[in-house]
Amino acid sequence: MKNYKMNTKCVQAGYRPGNGEPRQVPIIQSTTFKYDTSEDMGKLFDLEATGYFYSRLQNPTNDYVAAKIADMEGGTAAMLTSSGQAANFFALFNICNCGDHIVASSSIYGGTFNLISITMAKMGVTATFVSPDCTEEELNAAFKPNTKAVFGETIANPALTVLDIEKFANAAHAHGVPLIVDNTFPTPINCRPFEWGADIVTHSTTKYMDGHGAALGGAVVDSGTFDWMAHADKFPGLCTPDDSYHGITYAEKFGKEGAFITKCTAQLMRDLGSIQSPQNAFILNLGLESLHVRMPRHCENGQAVAEFLQKHPKVAYVNYCGLPSDKYYEVAKKYLPNGSCGVVSFGLKGGREAAEIFMKNLKLAAIETHVADARTCCLNPATSTHRQMNDEQLKEAGVPAELIRISCGIEDKEDLISDISQALDCIK
Ligand SMILES: *Cc1c(COP(=O)(O)O)cnc(C)c1O
Repeated sequence: MKNYKMNTKCVQAGYRPGNGEPRQVPIIQSTTFKYDTSEDMGKLFDLEATGYFYSRLQNPTNDYVAAKIADMEGGTAAMLTSSGQAANFFALFNICNCGDHIVASSSIYGGTFNLISITMAKMGVTATFVSPDCTEEELNAAFKPNTKAVFGETIANPALTVLDIEKFANAAHAHGVPLIVDNTFPTPINCRPFEWGADIVTHSTTKYMDGHGAALGGAVVDSGTFDWMAHADKFPGLCTPDDSYHGITYAEKFGKEGAFITKCTAQLMRDLGSIQSPQNAFILNLGLESLHVRMPRHCENGQAVAEFLQKHPKVAYVNYCGLPSDKYYEVAKKYLPNGSCGVVSFGLKGGREAAEIFMKNLKLAAIETHVADARTCCLNPATSTHRQMNDEQLKEAGVPAELIRISCGIEDKEDLISDISQALDCIK
């Protein structure tokens, strides 16, 4: 549905039923698929024919929904994973082997930071972290001869920094490697990183895409534009024969458009599992059908809450790129002209104690580790996810004790503001 507008793609892309077929995406709740002859099945194992044989690798329900996400992002191929963590791991591990190196923005989701800095390091893949605000010189200096990928988040969770995608894409391409962007917070409704030079996009579909806190999931999307064969020495996994599939070379057989996702499915899904369940893919698709209606409301509520907080005497600072005073206001105008997301963070003048009183007195906003949900939720990292750290360590990690992250849902903004207002009044 390439020629349709985003609103139409959200509702109808991916699954296009034929005459007399189900209107809604069918949930193919089957681990396996039946064939008439061994030759028919053999062709699938040789990657000579497309089709399904085992839902650890591929399932039709997932592929319908992945095709919708690929269309929304403007990519050529996509796959669904069991979580956002799996999506980021697969995107990186599809091209990084033991002995390779990643350049990553330091301002990323904590789970992804752990994945890259601890777990992938144990696999022999090292990383250099750079500030998203670094100069071009600083960014270029982070590359090594064994660098295979650059990684960043369009809007970082929870720091809410905005990535200068073109700056990172240019540096990646100058070094012959792809830029991978986690586009979870803006979703393709508010930003399509491929339009700015990113090569691979990942998602935690658990957040806005599902949008109802119902199904864990992730997605990897390929722009189909990175020329693997032009840098064949860096990407042997894509550019030399795979013995486990009778010596096919992915970049030759499937081209720029299909090599990355085919290899990721044929090797990583086969060997590591982590596919999204077809049930979750169905739930995700229900969320996608209204994503274009929900995102503007999340942004409207986020903007209203940010403006209210900024004027409040008990609030020390507010981070939201829609505020003209925000450090990322200008860069957001370029990459996020229609709004960013519903997540706002702020600090209370009264520090940790004030944060605790505020949180305890909220009535509508629930205390949750989750974000990007239809229902407003709130978190004080210092007293929850980061409670093992002391105040000094919290500051260093960019989550000072007084910091509160509020994820504005799609309720009425006046109700959200009165809830926040009465909770602030409880701080004496
Ligand atoms: C939540 C999140 C993840 C991890 O996703 P899960 O679905 O929880 O595994 C990755 N990146 C970002 C930006 C996130 O917000």
